[in-house]
Amino acid sequence: MTEDKAMSEGGRRALYLRPWHAFVYDGHEYVLNTGRLLTRRVRPGFIATLERLAADPLAPRTDDDELELFQLELASAEPVPVGMDEAPPPRTPPPITSINLMVAQRCNLRCIYCYGGGGEYGDAGMMSEATARRTVDWLIGQAGERTRLSISFFGGEPLLALPLVKSTVVYAREAAAAAGKSFGFAVCTNAMLLDDATIAYLKDNDIRALVGFDGPPEIHDRNRPRADGGPSSPVFLEHARRLTEEMPDAANFRATIWRSEDLPAVVDYLGRFCGGSYQTAFAAACLHDGEPGQGEGLPSPADGIGFARESIAAFVDAVRRGDEAEVSRYARWLDFGAALALLGPQRPQRAHCGVGSSMAGVGADGTLYACHRFVGSPEHVIGDVFAGTGDRDRFVNKPTFRTEPCASCWARPYCVGGCLHYNLGATGDMFTPSDDWCRLVKAWIEGGIHLDHELTEGDKELLYEHKLVARRPCPYDL
Ligand code: SF4
Ligand code: SF4
Repeated sequence: MTEDKAMSEGGRRALYLRPWHAFVYDGHEYVLNTGRLLTRRVRPGFIATLERLAADPLAPRTDDDELELFQLELASAEPVPVGMDEAPPPRTPPPITSINLMVAQRCNLRCIYCYGGGGEYGDAGMMSEATARRTVDWLIGQAGERTRLSISFFGGEPLLALPLVKSTVVYAREAAAAAGKSFGFAVCTNAMLLDDATIAYLKDNDIRALVGFDGPPEIHDRNRPRADGGPSSPVFLEHARRLTEEMPDAANFRATIWRSEDLPAVVDYLGRFCGGSYQTAFAAACLHDGEPGQGEGLPSPADGIGFARESIAAFVDAVRRGDEAEVSRYARWLDFGAALALLGPQRPQRAHCGVGSSMAGVGADGTLYACHRFVGSPEHVIGDVFAGTGDRDRFVNKPTFRTEPCASCWARPYCVGGCLHYNLGATGDMFTPSDDWCRLVKAWIEGGIHLDHELTEGDKELLYEHKLVARRPCPYDL
């Protein structure tokens, strides 16, 4: 562009805007530079200026407006192509470093939302010792220079196969030591078999516990009945209490929300029961008992937006009062603590999680799936532990950057298309999110940006120090 063309008759220079998103939260105006992930709480009226400039690069603006534009790195002297940045260059699949090992595709509970269809994933079975050992050998063999590997024992209920868990831990430690690598272990359990001896075993062997816990007993029993139909909470609560006493730093709880209206009661109960070490997630469709895209009847994630806003206000208030118990209570729900972490110095995210890329689910027969939730789904097989991995390109180089609605979405640098399993259940396509999901994610990011500006740097340091804020894309993506 020539100098002449860039200037108006009044001598104003044309200013073109880089991709941006603006919103109002609690009466404050915020602007986000979506390419550079810069956010600012801006002067009242600045959003109107942006809208005028978007329509006319020569629109009037003040010196303060120009300063704001400069600080947000939004102004360009040249027209900016509509749309988001280019997709990152394709990459070759990395080694898999984290697996969920289905030692038991059967379960002693019948959770009403189980995405594994009663924990069986369409084909009930128990893993053999030979397959577990082969899995360890394969994992180490393909890991290249990666030295830290992880195994999460999964199911179904993995403690139904406790002897196999124990022998696999011993085998993996020995094999890793011989190869100059090391393993981290976790067990994802419903806690029904988590007696004192098993807790002692987990503690002695440095194995983290990820435990399904749906909050108040009446909700937990409705959602997570025993296989014989009886209530699970009497045994569960006893075991969960012992676990938090014995392994306070190595036990994490996760509530699945089956009815949106349960959310406040679940957050309240879990916050009081286990402080900050819990997460919530909305129930996802099961791919084993219907067609993908049959998410009707499931809770709408968008129903959580109102409660998220209330929680953010309560969280900020608790931080300012120094009420650590209250801070813990709210910090984890919907992981908006993670939103805060995402807003620190950073670059755009390339993937929502390690699905099919750095992580895999391993079925009881040794088949490799893109993640634990896809076990039993032939379309999501990525190889097996005997022959190794096959084509993983659609997971490693997802089309999220090139296909709508994600390609031009302002939230994409943070969200990167969401959980592929959830998308498939909700819309029938892994790479097509549901509108409700997007509404929740966008509200969550806006809430995180507001939170970022409400808290002082000292507040944030304390949150990091107390491990109340951490980025955890998926609790099973170890
Ligand atoms: S899943 Fe929705 S919110 Fe996330 S990047 Fe895609 S369109 Fe945006
Ligand atoms: S976020 Fe979804 S796709 Fe990613 S690992 Fe978790 S369940 Fe699988």
